[in-house]
Amino acid sequence: MSLQLFLGLVIAAIAYAVSLLRWPLRPCPKCNGARTNKGSNRKRYGRCTRCKATGQVRRIGATAVHRFYWSVLGAALKGRMQEKVEKAKEKAGYPE
Ligand SMILES: [Zn+2]
Repeated sequence: MSLQLFLGLVIAAIAYAVSLLRWPLRPCPKCNGARTNKGSNRKRYGRCTRCKATGQVRRIGATAVHRFYWSVLGAALKGRMQEKVEKAKEKAGYPE
């Protein structure tokens, strides 16, 4: 595999991940966002089983990308909090 091809793939993957973060949902492919199952009409209808009557489903990889995003964000927040605690301890003359 050439380096250029590899870089292209990496960039495409990053672009896809960013789009997943921005737009994690897509219209349900089974009911096309109608939220009802086949055979439903004005008088009687059943819920679409694929999207559970929400009309939208998660895109492939969206859950994984978001899980990663929040774990990174959580780690950053935790680090910042710990820094704050350390500083506060210093200020208060907390014994080691
Ligand atoms: Zn559906």
